[in-house]
Amino acid sequence: MAVFKVEDYRNIALVGHGGAGKTTLAEACLFKAGVTKRQGSIDEKSSCLDFTDEEKEKGHSMDSSLCSLPHGGKHFNILDTPGSTDFIGLANSGVAGVETAVVVISATDGIEINTRKRFKRASEYGLARIIVINKIDDGEANLEELVSTIQESFGQECVPINLPASKGTAVVDCLTNSSGEADFGDVGGIHEAVLEAIVGADDELMEKYLGGGASEDEVLATAPKAVAAGALIPIMFTSASTGAGISEFLDAIIRLAPGPLAGKVRVLVDGETKTPIVPNAEDDFVGLAFKCATDPKSHIRYSFVRVLTGRLTSDQQIKTEQHPKGMRPGHVLRVSGDQHQDIEAGVAGDIIALAKLDVHIGETLFINKGGTIKMPFVPEPMFSLAIEPKTRGTEDKIGAILKQYADEDPCFKIERNATTHESVISGNGDLHLRTLLARMAKHHKLEVITHPPKVPYKETITTSAMNVGYTHKKQSGGSGQFGRVIINLLPAERGEGYEFVDKIFGGAIDQSYRPSVDKGIRAQMVLGVLAGYPVVDFKVELIDGKTHPVDSKDIAFQIAGRGAFKEAFMKAKPVLLEPVVHIDVTAPSENVGDLQGDLASRRGRPQGQEMLPGGMATLTAQIPLSEVADYHSRLSSITGGRGSYSLEFSHYEQVPGNVQQQIIADSKKTED
Ligand code: GDP
Repeated sequence: MAVFKVEDYRNIALVGHGGAGKTTLAEACLFKAGVTKRQGSIDEKSSCLDFTDEEKEKGHSMDSSLCSLPHGGKHFNILDTPGSTDFIGLANSGVAGVETAVVVISATDGIEINTRKRFKRASEYGLARIIVINKIDDGEANLEELVSTIQESFGQECVPINLPASKGTAVVDCLTNSSGEADFGDVGGIHEAVLEAIVGADDELMEKYLGGGASEDEVLATAPKAVAAGALIPIMFTSASTGAGISEFLDAIIRLAPGPLAGKVRVLVDGETKTPIVPNAEDDFVGLAFKCATDPKSHIRYSFVRVLTGRLTSDQQIKTEQHPKGMRPGHVLRVSGDQHQDIEAGVAGDIIALAKLDVHIGETLFINKGGTIKMPFVPEPMFSLAIEPKTRGTEDKIGAILKQYADEDPCFKIERNATTHESVISGNGDLHLRTLLARMAKHHKLEVITHPPKVPYKETITTSAMNVGYTHKKQSGGSGQFGRVIINLLPAERGEGYEFVDKIFGGAIDQSYRPSVDKGIRAQMVLGVLAGYPVVDFKVELIDGKTHPVDSKDIAFQIAGRGAFKEAFMKAKPVLLEPVVHIDVTAPSENVGDLQGDLASRRGRPQGQEMLPGGMATLTAQIPLSEVADYHSRLSSITGGRGSYSLEFSHYEQVPGNVQQQIIADSKKTED
């Protein structure tokens, strides 16, 4: 299989709201490029990209999938990313492999919640952005108004480079054309606007152009630089179903989307040394793993790697931070849908897959140079469920499968909570977790029972308790036990944890037993005193005590330490702390009043509100985690399923008195 020059690769990610037509667009590109004999279809369950049984069944993407195609002498790698907020981890980490995010917007639905989110993330990560308005075959859509809304939302840098024509069955080019008949808009005027946006990225060229000294070809040759810099965000039109605008889309990618040399510069960070990477096939190999996936049929695990520079062949040793001695890939593969093909080498600018290697998302691979490369932001998963195996004895198998899922999805976690003793899985939302559990049930016949997890409260003190003494004495019959300790208990700053200070002058407690006091306190600290939650942010000073020449021993001082700590804790005005999260809700603007009222009734504190073009609004608030366990269904019922939300951990804060009493009472009940 051919290996291309660095400048001949075009790596793009299709991003946007679910249902905009991303997968259909990728299928249409494969068909147009002659890779497939007929266009795969989501609706007929013959998609090359949504190829897993689950995706065919549900009719939408759950993971990002990669396809590649030749067009106009270039090699395209197209990453189709999932649109739903629930799979945001996969959508966001996938864009680490590309230069350009193609934001797909449905002509009929316009800008949706995830359109905005993906656009913002792509900008933050420094990717070039291109907007595709798809479904232009739908006669109902007001495309002219949609272009204005896009410009209002994403800036005046968004300029059409073609326009729909013949009632959405064709497109007219405005990049090189200054005349023609479009369904709306003035082709000549838009052509001028495109050229102006391009020169906007380069002061010298701008002066030359305005002075009449720059030819159109000269201006167009710099277009990928302008797109990479965000001075031009091209808008183009397609119908992925009918094929209108598809070859024009592929041509425009070649002309406008930056190749690996003109696109986002990746920086290799090794301690204090920061080295910007200039892709060069002759250099030492450096790659970035941005996606891992296990083939559901063969169970082979593939790591998808963007070759940032150099060249990798199958017999070389690649190193990662975890494998400094190196691993031999065996095969270097090109993946397209569910097809894998051996290639001679992975060269700078390409995307390759490596099979059966212990390489994880976000890891840098190298032959000589070490270091790390920044990955795109993925939110901390805040939606959790506690799980228990349905069948006894399957714990270990379930743990292993869920660990594999966590390895492939940066927003999925499984943890054993040391405080609540529950196995807790966390993800972006209800659908996210249910999808993964359904996958486990289907492929491995392993099922779990779920319930809302206990909230990880913490205990702390608000004042000091000085000179608190405790004696542990067991001196009747057998070998005796004796230990007396006197401590001061003091509050510490939030986040400081626990500190033990030995302040004994002289030998009131034998030197060898002082660590026993500390050990006893640590044991109690994990168990909690008030309601069974771990104690944080305090300092204990051991100030005095008493030793018995025969009966004093380690265990006696551990018990005395624990006893003194418990007593002092209850005297130091103890309180519970609860996790507070930052919630971000997007919903139709007519629901804002109801949503605000609902958040307020859940102890939410509003932080801001913004009206968005297109009749939507976003609300932000801080809210206790315990109050949002069922938010999914509440939001859905208020907005008729049109709202979405995300949670991010903010901080721990004191639980109000009445709520605290309830939590303590509940903890007493479960103890009984
Ligand atoms: P994705 O979630 O963004 O990947 O969207 P899909 O590619 O799965 O498409 C969602 C639905 O829109 C499917 O039923 C497609 O057949 C349909 N669709 C996609 N592109 C077009 C188009 O250009 N025109 C029309 N009319 N429907 C389309």
